[in-house]
Amino acid sequence: MIDKIDDDKVKVDTKELNNICDECKEKDESVTQNLILTGFKLCKSCRVSKTIFPI
Ligand SMILES: [Zn+2]
Repeated sequence: MIDKIDDDKVKVDTKELNNICDECKEKDESVTQNLILTGFKLCKSCRVSKTIFPI
């Protein structure tokens, strides 16, 4: 039964918010957005690859 949203699930370690992509090591502001939204620390171009080939 789900009657509340668990905020802990979306909590992100602020030390990880350096905008460096784990895949290509490029710095891009989309990295943080993707980390929060998807849980993957990826820039937008690397996220496309993950979207095409989901785990
Ligand atoms: Zn990347």
